[in-house]
Amino acid sequence: MRSLSLWTPHIVPEEEAPEEAKGCECCSLARQRKRVIWGEGNPQAPLFILLDNPGARETREGEAFLCGTRETLQEGLAAAGVGREEFYISYLLKCRPVRAYDKEAARNACRPHLELQLGEKKPQLLLALGNVAVQGWFGDPEAEVKALRGRWHTVQGIPTACGYHPLAVRRRPVLRRLLAEDLEMVAARLEEWRKGAGRRQQE
Ligand code: SF4
Repeated sequence: MRSLSLWTPHIVPEEEAPEEAKGCECCSLARQRKRVIWGEGNPQAPLFILLDNPGARETREGEAFLCGTRETLQEGLAAAGVGREEFYISYLLKCRPVRAYDKEAARNACRPHLELQLGEKKPQLLLALGNVAVQGWFGDPEAEVKALRGRWHTVQGIPTACGYHPLAVRRRPVLRRLLAEDLEMVAARLEEWRKGAGRRQQE
């Protein structure tokens, strides 16, 4: 684990949603959202991080702020040695829910947006965080981080790791070490990928 003495959390630039998705009304969240949140970070990053849905991104006054989920995630990535240009964060649902909604209908409706992203970005690795993201990504309502974390899986041809949701880690500090282990596992595989990509460039 790296020292974080010089590290500070920061607002990661958002990637704008494509025109055809900005006005999406494919599920009831269209009536609750402020805007479609497509993702943030480097759109060409080798690591695609999948969370359940976006949280608040602005204060009431409209100022951008970093929620606890993203702060804890950034901190864990930095400690594991994953660089700022190496990750992209997105969501099963691209709209922030603020009241009750039909979860299954929303997840089914939003899936094509995720497929579009993955088809364009072709990430090397995917990290699904939290049971909701894991269940959505594995297509298994019984899937659990507890059982799947700590090793690699292949889902839709993408090497996939699982970890606890950063918000769960904030609420239960005992999970912090487990998230750190999973991020280190991801960082080690990214390092292998970097070496392989470097070798191919030299050939
Ligand atoms: S959650 Fe997804 S499917 Fe539903 S309105 Fe937002 S972008 Fe469309």
